[in-house]
Amino acid sequence: MSLYCPSCGAVNEEFAEFCASCGESLAKARDRKVKHEKAKQEKTSEGTEEKKLYRSRTDKMVTGLSAGLAKYLDLDIDLVRILWLIAFVVSGGIVLVVYLIMAMAIPLEPEVETT
Ligand SMILES: [Zn+2]
Repeated sequence: MSLYCPSCGAVNEEFAEFCASCGESLAKARDRKVKHEKAKQEKTSEGTEEKKLYRSRTDKMVTGLSAGLAKYLDLDIDLVRILWLIAFVVSGGIVLVVYLIMAMAIPLEPEVETT
C-alpha cells in the first residue's frame, strides 16, 4: 500500500509522516484514505444484506406489486404507480403483460407476526 502526497502527488510509504519529495505532512492524506476505506466497507456490508422483492400484503391496490417495488427501490409508492401507468400508456399494453408476469413471479411478502 502506498500513500499519495496531497501536495505534490509523490508516492510515499504507507506510514510515512511527511512526503519524501516535498516535505508536506501526510496526515491529512491518510485521514482521507481511512475515511474513504471506511465508507467503502460500509457500502459493501450494506450490499451483502439481502434485499428481496415481495409484493406487499398491507399496501396493495391490485396485486401489491407497486408497493413491493416501491419498498424495494426506496421510492414513493405513488411515484411507482404513476410510472407503471405511464409505461402502460407508452408501451401500448406490453408493460401490462410484464406487470402480470411479475405479479405472478414475485411472491407475497411473508406474513408479519402480530403480537
Ligand atoms: Zn509531496
